[in-house]
Amino acid sequence: MAKSSPDTSSPTISDRGAARLTADWLRHPALIRLIDVLTTAGGPPRVVGGCVRDALLGRPVTDIDLATPVRPEAVKTALEQSGIKAVPTGMDHGTVTAVIDGKGYEITTLRRDLETDGRHAVVAFTDDWREDAARRDFTINAMSASPDGTVYDYFGGLADGQAGRVRFVGDPAARIGEDYLRVLRFFRFQAWYGRQPPDETTLKALAAAVPGLGRLAAERVRSEVVRWLAAPDPRPSWRLARQTGVAAWLFGDVPAARLTRLVRRESDLGVAPDPMRRLAAFVLPPGAGAKATGEKFRLSKTEQRYLATVESAAGAEPSVRSDVDARRLAYHHGLSIAGDLLLLADSPDDAAERAFRSLSTWEVPVFPIRGSDAKRAGLPDGPEIGAALSAVERWWVQRDFAPNREACLERLFLVVDNKQS
Ligand code: ATP
Ligand code: MG
Repeated sequence: MAKSSPDTSSPTISDRGAARLTADWLRHPALIRLIDVLTTAGGPPRVVGGCVRDALLGRPVTDIDLATPVRPEAVKTALEQSGIKAVPTGMDHGTVTAVIDGKGYEITTLRRDLETDGRHAVVAFTDDWREDAARRDFTINAMSASPDGTVYDYFGGLADGQAGRVRFVGDPAARIGEDYLRVLRFFRFQAWYGRQPPDETTLKALAAAVPGLGRLAAERVRSEVVRWLAAPDPRPSWRLARQTGVAAWLFGDVPAARLTRLVRRESDLGVAPDPMRRLAAFVLPPGAGAKATGEKFRLSKTEQRYLATVESAAGAEPSVRSDVDARRLAYHHGLSIAGDLLLLADSPDDAAERAFRSLSTWEVPVFPIRGSDAKRAGLPDGPEIGAALSAVERWWVQRDFAPNREACLERLFLVVDNKQS
């Protein structure tokens, strides 16, 4: 999700002042077909939300979402009658996903909120585009564009996006009260789009909302936090999260130092951000721990295993300084985890970064002797073979993998002789 690189098909903003989308994807045959079907069913749809925001800001667009005044059942029927696969992904809140050539397009009927309780909303369908925009979270997310590229920006989202301002549509406290997830969404969008801090009212509303975060489903929290931590530089938004108490709610009172160091090293070394590696920065002591974090965010088994491995390896060796240390870690945990451990290590930057670089040209060696060698050395089948091999392997690793097969065999004989004498 490299959102920071410029999009080659970036749009132009018309010189008459009104923004116009001229992105290539707007002319994609699949989208044109979809627009035709929806137009026939009840009037032209618009592209909305993230795709409009990112196209206008010159960022890559991956997902295209559409909005329509046509009711969801009618959308589904119109798609099916045109031979387009229609998946009813969220009929209650108005969403049908059209699938063309394997790509999904979310089509959502215009809505307004009837009731909100901080977690869910009961919605009514509407024909009013502005009303639909008004229930969206941030001004940058509330823009839409008609098929000819005319942009509808009811709340100044384009100016905010260009200035790097993440601003709630309407009163921040009221909007957060409708859906507490918007607190975490704020930090996610601030990390990706914010270049200036929010105003005092927003900061206060975010801080006041912390006690309400507990009512959110873990999956929703996880999704926002992971997307937040995947941002190229989540440090400024993280400082705001500390200031408002949101960081402490998420991870306990972890100092910002490890995240700061991690992002700096990633940037020095040209390593792509990885949200799980960033999460690890909050897990390691004095953080919440892998188990608690895994449970809190309902992480997958693979993600939990990753955090647990990093936690135990870092616990065994918190300060990794030399190339030799790096190779030892890579041998035991694989190159990828060793790299992450170096990025996270409590060592001086230059040492950790040098050690990290040393791994780029290193191949994990294969231990040159095996069970059959131990048998030939006179050991009977059974646990003694494993024990002898482990002893030689430790010796080999301690010597930075330098001893060759002959040297390892010699060492094996020595170990066997000692055992037998
Ligand atoms: P991304 O490209 O990162 O997915 P996005 O803008 O598409 O960004 P989504 O989380 O996919 O973000 O949401 C799609 C759109 O739906 C948003 O742009 C916003 O207009 C609206 N939206 C989503 N969640 C909320 C919410 N909790 N409250 C209000 N509006 C929301
Ligand atoms: Mg999206």
